[in-house]
Amino acid sequence: MPNLQAPRGTRDLLPSQTPAWTRLERLAADLAARYGYRRIETPLFEQAAVFERGVGAVTDIVEKELFRIAPRTEESESWALRPEPTAGIVRAYIQHGMQTLPQPVKLAMTGPMFRHDRPQAGRYRQFWQFDVEAIGDPGPAVDAEIIELGHRFFADAGLADVRIHLNSIGDAACRPAYIETLAAHYRPHAAELPAVERERLERAPLRLLDSKDPSMAPLNATAPRITDHLCGPCREHFDAVQAHLAALGVEFSLEPGLVRGLDYYTRTAFEYYLEGRQGQQQALGGGGRYDGLVELLGGKPTPGIGLGLGLDRILLALEAQGVPPAADPALTAVVVGADPAATADRLRVATILRSAGIPARAELGQRKLGKQLESAAKERAHFAVIVGDEFADGQVQVKDLEAGAQKLVAIADLARHIERAQASHRHGAPVER
Ligand code: AMP
Repeated sequence: MPNLQAPRGTRDLLPSQTPAWTRLERLAADLAARYGYRRIETPLFEQAAVFERGVGAVTDIVEKELFRIAPRTEESESWALRPEPTAGIVRAYIQHGMQTLPQPVKLAMTGPMFRHDRPQAGRYRQFWQFDVEAIGDPGPAVDAEIIELGHRFFADAGLADVRIHLNSIGDAACRPAYIETLAAHYRPHAAELPAVERERLERAPLRLLDSKDPSMAPLNATAPRITDHLCGPCREHFDAVQAHLAALGVEFSLEPGLVRGLDYYTRTAFEYYLEGRQGQQQALGGGGRYDGLVELLGGKPTPGIGLGLGLDRILLALEAQGVPPAADPALTAVVVGADPAATADRLRVATILRSAGIPARAELGQRKLGKQLESAAKERAHFAVIVGDEFADGQVQVKDLEAGAQKLVAIADLARHIERAQASHRHGAPVER
């Protein structure tokens, strides 16, 4: 037999883990709805050009990490699994003429992303992001709204000590000159640079600031800062984003080295880190403004800003902080009985409960009644419904496994009885006997 395994860098989410996921997904959906961001879903794969153009050809994401789907024939288009959500969402915005809607169009999505990265703790080849995008608003107020939204997600999830790092990376007016100044800072040291960084110096100097190589730290520390080279409008925008955040009471620290890996960012760039856990693999989320992206993907010039939070890393951080995971939802009722042949009766009773909206499981095996009751208690079911001789008269025994009481109940009243007993239990009143 082959030893079949999940691909490296991917994980199965087992039923013991999914309640914590469901909790985060619900938080994300609630938060997006509260802020007026409407759900969108895009395909898990797109034409590779969406990412090559939208993310940028000279980025790790496209150069090294894109999961390309091998074409079946020579004529087939070239596809890739989505490494991030923004390019696909912007493609959809253009394709469906969303520029004719009232702007900005505020969108939210939670789903898996794929990067062919070297797997390690907190870095997977399939990982989940909660993403929001506001397309069609030049800011600066919406920048602050989105940064605050991300901040609130952490607060709602119960994660402490999350810090916001903020920067502006300028725009087409001021960035080219800054990049020249930056390249001039590194060029005299080109020969000593690690090969990867030397190549960056030639192709994407801004990304030198993003370097993970410790040998780059001294040169990076003395590098010219983009925030000292912003043009007037970018400076004004950046100051206004900070003023809005201050008005919202959201604290942040200015990080001139924060450039993020994607080519399409302009102006506002931000990331969320746990206090003291800075570094490329540690970001819990981040985002930025992408005023050139819609045009780059074939639409009319339209500003935009977005945010992506890494749910896998957030869950790891919650675990590390000892935030209790969400409890597995308990079954309300287990339908049991001594007669091994009466599975249809037990199933019918369970169906009656389920159609009344009560979570129920029927015992369909051949175990002794005592064992059935034992496992119902282990599952933390609130009630055992015992299908026995009384069934012929339209009745069943209902045992309250928490209160220990047992009562004969007409099947016609069963759902109502259970609902009432649960409600009085919740309100702390004595359980009806
Ligand atoms: P990025 O677009 O790279 O800034 O990603 C946004 C967020 O997604 C990051 O801050 C991480 O929390 C998360 N993330 C990115 N790549 C991975 C990965 N390979 N595995 C797990 N989480 C990731």
